[in-house]
Amino acid sequence: MKNKSLRYRINLWYTVLMCIIAASLLTSVVMATRTAEKSDAQQNLIRSVERNIDEIEVENGVLDIESDFAFVNGNVHALVFSADGRLLGGSYPDGLELSAPTENGKIDVINEYYIYDSMVNFLKFEYKINGATGEIISSECDGIDSYTPFSGKIDTVGENCTLSYREAYEIALEHSGRTKENTELIMARSYEYNDDPLYEIEFYSSQAGYEDIWVRGIMSAKSVDSVWGAVAKIAAVLIPTVIVVAALVGDIIAKRAMFPIKKLSDAVSDIQSGSDLSKRVDVCDSDPAIVSLTNNFNAMSERLHTSFETERQFTSDVSHELRTPTAVILAECEYRLSDKNINEQEKEAFESIKKQTESIKKIITQLLWFARLEQGNEKPQFEKEDLSELIRAVCDDLDTICNKNITLERDIDDNVFMQLDVSMMTRVVTNLVSNAAIYQDDNGYIKVTLKEDDEKIILSVKDKGYGIEKKHLDKIWNRFYRVDKSRSREQGCSGLGLAMVKQLVILHNGTVRAESEPGKGSTFYVEFLK
Ligand code: ADP
Repeated sequence: MKNKSLRYRINLWYTVLMCIIAASLLTSVVMATRTAEKSDAQQNLIRSVERNIDEIEVENGVLDIESDFAFVNGNVHALVFSADGRLLGGSYPDGLELSAPTENGKIDVINEYYIYDSMVNFLKFEYKINGATGEIISSECDGIDSYTPFSGKIDTVGENCTLSYREAYEIALEHSGRTKENTELIMARSYEYNDDPLYEIEFYSSQAGYEDIWVRGIMSAKSVDSVWGAVAKIAAVLIPTVIVVAALVGDIIAKRAMFPIKKLSDAVSDIQSGSDLSKRVDVCDSDPAIVSLTNNFNAMSERLHTSFETERQFTSDVSHELRTPTAVILAECEYRLSDKNINEQEKEAFESIKKQTESIKKIITQLLWFARLEQGNEKPQFEKEDLSELIRAVCDDLDTICNKNITLERDIDDNVFMQLDVSMMTRVVTNLVSNAAIYQDDNGYIKVTLKEDDEKIILSVKDKGYGIEKKHLDKIWNRFYRVDKSRSREQGCSGLGLAMVKQLVILHNGTVRAESEPGKGSTFYVEFLK
């Protein structure tokens, strides 16, 4: 995770967060739906039982389950039981068998079925009695939940009646077989029915009768659970969709969030690749952190630029200043050495001074060249030239220069043309081949190869010399870096040759690298993309 980009990590965090939120929301919705569904299903069951209770009556002492009683209604089954647990009507759903109801008004879940039992008290008697003759026109016994006792006078006579309310009540009582003690009058009224005066009498009696009729409602709980199936299907579509959408949105957010940093990074790498420290990065965002980062980077570049400039100027000035004294010393040496009267001791001393001064002169020349290059005064003059010929010529020249009896083998493709600055490229090849000669003993071997394919041109200089340890390989391209200082000094080498080779190759849009094995030799490669 640590090596993933910040953009990737922001996107991942965002996507995970969105998924957690989506999953939590889905779970909450499911739970809420399920609870609502469950209580809705249970309410349905209760309502269904209560509707059915309205369809049960006791008429003239006989239990009457009316035709509107729904024994099966959708997924609700209704059953009627007597007080002693006998099944009076209805049937269980397949495979379900239960004992008779005993607890009133409670929802139970048994074998994935909701069960609701309701006990009905048939204690309300309803009579219609002819107010003139005392004839009973109709009688009913029905369930009752609560009652309000009659508060009117029952000694008065109803309109057009010859009987009093009390007499009508007593006729009803007598007919129902109830006694006055456990009976409460609920309603007594008179009105005219088919030109006859009529009493309607309702009373409640707590005496035993049909009070223990049970109605049981049964509903499958699976239908409620099926919501899970639906939810699983929704989740199967919703969750991948959320992940994809979250990842896309997350990517856009991460990209936008990283945009100022990307811009800053591009600007920084622009400066780095162009090695122009005078360039500055524009403040590309209003975010205080980005503004501060940009300003700090610009301040750092400014300091670096100043110190490089100072160093460059110093090198250039010192080199210039040293040029005249070295020229004078060399001239003086030449003059003294040309004197025929010079003795052997003096001759040796002046020759040594001359050799060292020539080394200093070489360093000064190279330093001045670097200074001119960095100040932009040393510009390559590119022309399409035959690199094969150029390398052959350099090898021919060096053949005689390296008088260490070294075999210089050539494997050079013909007609390799490229845009190059002849004097610069000559320096590159000369430096590499002379190094190969310097860093090996007499009777050595050098092979110069030039190969061209569709993509690149590769120049390699191989020797069977002292070789370079791996830890030095990257550093040999730095200015003044010498692996074996005493040996280099002996040879009059400054450690500037390969730094110059690298600069020159970069000017030709090429790259350099070296492979080496101590004691076995080295191969230096220069590659140019076509
Ligand atoms: P110098 O002027 O000292 O040769 P260079 O920049 O040309 O400086 O080389 C840097 C160092 O790399 C040398 O001092 C030497 O130790 C090592 N080097 C360069 N070329 C070779 C080579 N062909 N074989 C072994 N060592 C080499």
